[in-house]
Amino acid sequence: MIPVTLGWLAKQVKGQLSTDSVTNMVIEDITTDSRSLSAGSVFIALIGENFDGHEYALDALQKGAAALIVSKPVDSPLPQILVKDTRHALGDIARAVKEKVAPKTIGITGSSGKTTVKEMTASILTQCGKTLATAGNFNNDIGVPLTLLRLTENHRFAVIEMGANHQGEIEYTVNLAKPDVVTIVNAAASHLQGFGSLFGVARAKSEIFSGLQSGGTAVINTDSQFYEFWQGKCDHINTLSFSPNSCKGDFFAKNVSINKDGCAEFELITPVGKIPIRLRIPGAHNIGNAVLAAALSHQVGAELHHIQTGLFNMRSVKGRLSLINVSSKIRILDDTYNANVASVKAAIDSLVTFNGPRIFVFGDMGELGDQAASYHQQIGEYAKQKGVDALITIGQLSVHASQVMDKQGMHCESVDDIISQITALVDAAEKAGKVPVNILVKGSRSAKMERVTQAIQLKL
Ligand code: ATP
Ligand code: MG
Repeated sequence: MIPVTLGWLAKQVKGQLSTDSVTNMVIEDITTDSRSLSAGSVFIALIGENFDGHEYALDALQKGAAALIVSKPVDSPLPQILVKDTRHALGDIARAVKEKVAPKTIGITGSSGKTTVKEMTASILTQCGKTLATAGNFNNDIGVPLTLLRLTENHRFAVIEMGANHQGEIEYTVNLAKPDVVTIVNAAASHLQGFGSLFGVARAKSEIFSGLQSGGTAVINTDSQFYEFWQGKCDHINTLSFSPNSCKGDFFAKNVSINKDGCAEFELITPVGKIPIRLRIPGAHNIGNAVLAAALSHQVGAELHHIQTGLFNMRSVKGRLSLINVSSKIRILDDTYNANVASVKAAIDSLVTFNGPRIFVFGDMGELGDQAASYHQQIGEYAKQKGVDALITIGQLSVHASQVMDKQGMHCESVDDIISQITALVDAAEKAGKVPVNILVKGSRSAKMERVTQAIQLKL
């Protein structure tokens, strides 16, 4: 974080500092977790569903905290800043730190692909100057401010992922980050329980347009069914468009080919010219993610050669459609990190670009509300239509997918059961001279499908 004084902090959070004598004390770090607190930092006592940070004030003292930000006075010798709401105090400080450093900022939301687009954009912008990006998935109302607090004076760019589990969440985080450029990667059936319908998802994501800096730009997906709706929300701001799947809008891919590792090569078309792009992460959906990352980074100053190098440098993150060559007989497409309807279809699209038998091991997709069974059934139909050779399911919902695959569908009760099925399929493929077999493994976080990738690697 940038160094600030306790007096400055108290002013940002409109709080009362308990001891005037420490107004000029310099603070270089703020934390919400007493376990990772470093000496000299300020501890903010957040109140969550299952914890109350105020109970850790003593722990903070023992770790060497310089002061506390609290919403109720605690019994402690440390200086305290008393505020109404500590979560809002965290947000207020993050907003002020971001304003002070003033990096060019990009805000990214969407149903799937946020982390990938964020990593790609950061990989491009790193070529141009010091870039801060959300670590992992720190994309909620606590993660976004904690990310902004990591800014230092020499950061020129910030790439911020913004997720949403309910209406209003993105409106809050985008108004902290105040980006120069924002985008919605896509809207799909994920977290439906918090939004009621797919349109509810699209509307919640559109909150991101409300927090743009004046003169900022929204980059809109021309292929989405919500394109017009989103464009209608942007009357007051500049817009640019990108197309993940077709040749229209300001940024798109042309002459696409997929190489033997499942990675795309294409020509990137932009308003300032075209350039060949080679990706080293598999998955057809990454073409659209790369096109979008190019549009976002170009808007804050990246040139075509930065885009080309940045995208080439980007490598797979474990569990996000990463390729594991287990042996000469088996290749795994490990996409176990998470799943929703759109990302499962995208993963199937990638699986079928590989030569050789294609097996899909599918675990349940969570948080799909009343229509969950029919969404799983849709996946079975999609797999069948795309030419998946075997669909192995585990879990009470994904069974609806294997049921529609006729003989190619198999439902398993355990990971051991899955391993037996795969062993039989691999043996048959080997006899027929059709190895390597390609195995896509995917399901929601709650399905813990990494159990399957680990078992395949250990046992086959
Ligand atoms: P989360 O909501 O968990 O933060 P996310 O939006 O950050 O997810 P990623 O982590 O980038 O998304 O990708 C998750 C999975 O979604 C990937 O493994 C891939 O299968 C799929 N995916 C990535 N990009 C797209 C896309 N543009 N369209 C559809 N599916 C995608
Ligand atoms: Mg993410």
